[in-house]
Amino acid sequence: MLGIDNIFKAVFLVGFIAGSVIRKVYTFKCRHRRAVKKYKSAVDISLISAAGIAMALPLFYIFTPLLDFADYHLPEWLGFIGTAVFAMALILLWRSHADLGRNWSAILQIKQEHSLVTNGVYRHIRHPMYAAHLLWAIAQGLLLENWLAGWAFLVVFVPLYLIRAPKEEQMMLEQFDEQYCQYISRTGGIMPRFWK
Ligand code: SAH
Repeated sequence: MLGIDNIFKAVFLVGFIAGSVIRKVYTFKCRHRRAVKKYKSAVDISLISAAGIAMALPLFYIFTPLLDFADYHLPEWLGFIGTAVFAMALILLWRSHADLGRNWSAILQIKQEHSLVTNGVYRHIRHPMYAAHLLWAIAQGLLLENWLAGWAFLVVFVPLYLIRAPKEEQMMLEQFDEQYCQYISRTGGIMPRFWK
């Protein structure tokens, strides 16, 4: 019989595929918009690569016995919460990509005709896409009963966000100056702010 742990693995897999499709579609849509300023750093690139590996570890966990040594047990109800959190992560990932449009890039950069987006999900929160990744990382931990496959992404994502967000905001301030200053004053970072 299909155990509940296998059902949560299947939920993760479906979410993983949906998230990958969202990313691919928008990467394709953004392909022609060139960068005019790049803010590459070795730390950022290393952490992004580590995050990619941490997001893919569940595939090894689901399809091979390689990570079985790190298995543990989680109460069933956490898997249901993980399912709801993953759904929220995917909706937020999709909406933030849709709202950011061609201004999006995986590495920090200012693109040709870059405009400051302050509408849609960006109305109350400056980093909805990072919020989506944080929700994804939490959902991954709640859905998979394995210390490595479950929590590696959260362990990598927290320092990635803490290092990247201030650099990104510095870059946006240099580019959009007063407009971004005002945007900061009325929005939250990774948590939405609904009051002025
Ligand atoms: N931090 C945002 C965007 C992540 S993608 C989020 O979490 O949703 C990173 C790229 O998005 C950066 O290179 C930057 O150029 C661009 N960017 C970030 N915020 C933006 C905004 N409000 N409007 C336009 N571009 C933005």
